[in-house]
Amino acid sequence: MKKLTRFSFAFLVFIYYFNLAGCSQQAENPLLSEWKTPFETAPFSKIKNEHFLPAIEEGMKVERAEIEAIINNPEAPDFANTLAALEKSGKLLSRVNRVFGALNGANTNEELQNIARITAPMLSKHRDDISLNEKLFQRVKHIYDEKDQLNLNEEERIVLDNYYTDFVRSGALLDDAQKQVLRKINEEITNLYVQFRQNHLNQTNAVCLVIENEADLAGLPESVIQSAAETARSRGMAGKWAFTLQKPSFIPFLQYSEKRDLRETVLKAYVNRGNNNDDFDNKKLISRIAALRVKRANLLGYDTHADYVLERNMAQNPDNVYKFLNDLWKPALKRAKMEAADMQALTKKERHDFKLAAWDWWYYAGKVKKEKFALDEGMLRPYFKMENVRKGAFDVAEKLYGIKFIPRNDIEVYHPDVEVFEVQEADGKHLGIFYSDYYPRDGKRSGAWSSSFRSQSNMDGNFITPLVFNVGNFSKPTADKPSLLSIDEVNTLFHELGHGLNSLFGNTVYSGSRRTPRDFVELPSQVLENWAMEPDVLKTYALHYETGEPIPQELIDKLDKARLFNQGFETVEYLAASFLDMDWHMLKDTVEVDAAEFEKQSMAKIGLMSEIVPRYQSTNFGHIFSSGGYSAGYYSYIWAAVLDADAFQAFKETDLFDPQLAASFREHVLSRGSTYMMDQYVKFRGAEPKVDALLERRGLN
Ligand SMILES: [Zn+2]
Repeated sequence: MKKLTRFSFAFLVFIYYFNLAGCSQQAENPLLSEWKTPFETAPFSKIKNEHFLPAIEEGMKVERAEIEAIINNPEAPDFANTLAALEKSGKLLSRVNRVFGALNGANTNEELQNIARITAPMLSKHRDDISLNEKLFQRVKHIYDEKDQLNLNEEERIVLDNYYTDFVRSGALLDDAQKQVLRKINEEITNLYVQFRQNHLNQTNAVCLVIENEADLAGLPESVIQSAAETARSRGMAGKWAFTLQKPSFIPFLQYSEKRDLRETVLKAYVNRGNNNDDFDNKKLISRIAALRVKRANLLGYDTHADYVLERNMAQNPDNVYKFLNDLWKPALKRAKMEAADMQALTKKERHDFKLAAWDWWYYAGKVKKEKFALDEGMLRPYFKMENVRKGAFDVAEKLYGIKFIPRNDIEVYHPDVEVFEVQEADGKHLGIFYSDYYPRDGKRSGAWSSSFRSQSNMDGNFITPLVFNVGNFSKPTADKPSLLSIDEVNTLFHELGHGLNSLFGNTVYSGSRRTPRDFVELPSQVLENWAMEPDVLKTYALHYETGEPIPQELIDKLDKARLFNQGFETVEYLAASFLDMDWHMLKDTVEVDAAEFEKQSMAKIGLMSEIVPRYQSTNFGHIFSSGGYSAGYYSYIWAAVLDADAFQAFKETDLFDPQLAASFREHVLSRGSTYMMDQYVKFRGAEPKVDALLERRGLN
């Protein structure tokens, strides 16, 4: 992919304005008209790339007018004319942006990426225009100062608190000169995110290894060889075998390839994404992002970006996060070293005399697993056909909450891989729409995620139902086999559906009241993974793709025995990335650091063993550098794991599908959200969570 020059950039903008003036494109823009589709779902067949830029501009214009109307309301500020009005504003822009964001994430192309580059700074400025609007803030502040006299209900108080805090955290209390500085910082950061994302996508889709000599395929299972042949063919290299840096392509290579030198090539290519000193290098970008974050935090009155972020999380401050991570680090590292010793012993047995390296871990872990537990990934995959697994996940949701997933072929999709389901309550009441999009393709970013085209709300008695989508990069069907998932992919499918249920179960008047702390967000997703591996549940959905036979008890027993296998590695590579994230955001200086050197020091500080590389390196750590999302928040997954292990324990203590417990979980945890999620959790569980269940689950106790 070629980088866009400044010239073609300007040219595109020119074309757009020319189009606008030349024909009345706006009138026909499907993004701006009413959607007379089932459940007002997006009419993807009508939406063209060129519709986005004018629609985003129009959306901003409409929202500006809505904000003006709120500000100019001659009546004294109250909840209805200010906060409820804010909740109603920006709907058009949100609708357009969500469709754009979904496509740009899961099905992008050069044109959409150009639009992202053009609109990112526009949108950043637009958001700042609202969050730094003095008159608007004064109205919110007026209500906030009087809140105790206003007779607000609990949800209204949460909405007020969210808006007020957002304003303050966005700089509403700064003076004009400071606000200008803040705007510049935000704009620059937003542009850097866009560049990071595009470099990242480019590097992940790159071919990292082309095999021409059949002997170099040694050890690879037939299905892996076939996929590699297809990848090569689709990239104009028919007759060869190609591997990309997408997980379903390179992970099996690391697991099975007997060619140690090729494993090294592949792992290094993965680790070095964004760190190749070429056009797609991210080192300078991230140093700049980190420095700008410090600058912004200082401006807003915080020592570090981590202090700024964590204030709104359950963890509250960096000390708590480091303490939490360190408590887990020691037992995890100890176990990982034992695992490495097992593998080194195996290399000796094979009469090799090399020291185990990072590119050996997957390969020898697989061998140890086979030797110790007689279990091989390849024995399991036939039982995890994607359609069966998805149905299994739906069935779990149905048994817990009584909901049903009904396929809908009359709802438009943006790619043939996308499938649509209507979600109904037990009594047939419409609950929302669920889209699944599970296979990798060029133009889809790596990883898996859940998001929505529309959130639930219920203002003025108008119940808006959610439109939710799950995206993954799972093993694709091949010419002669359906999609057969790895255990990891099975868990991911359940995980993302968990996020989806969280969105589908939203049941509040204002969507603005359902904001949850970052370190709580992974609870609804991770908790669902527990059901995926329960023997009684496995038997219902893990059916052999050819014979339809359920997974044999013998395999379930093996799975159970191997449950703790490699948990040291998994915990260590995850925690290493969490420390790296925190260290980047504990910087107090606005000087740009050398990213490579910084990472080296950060990992040396925790004493990371050389046989393991952190799950992400700084230059490809999308969670923290492709948006603000998980910055100083990557620890959240394991923080939430403490919660999910504890929550699942409640079901284990009563019944896996106890309807009352499920109803309580839905009511208190899934259907709402607030900054006080611990209180909500306690309503469900009766007490705050303990780490015991997690340590036991990972064998770290
Ligand atoms: Zn998640």
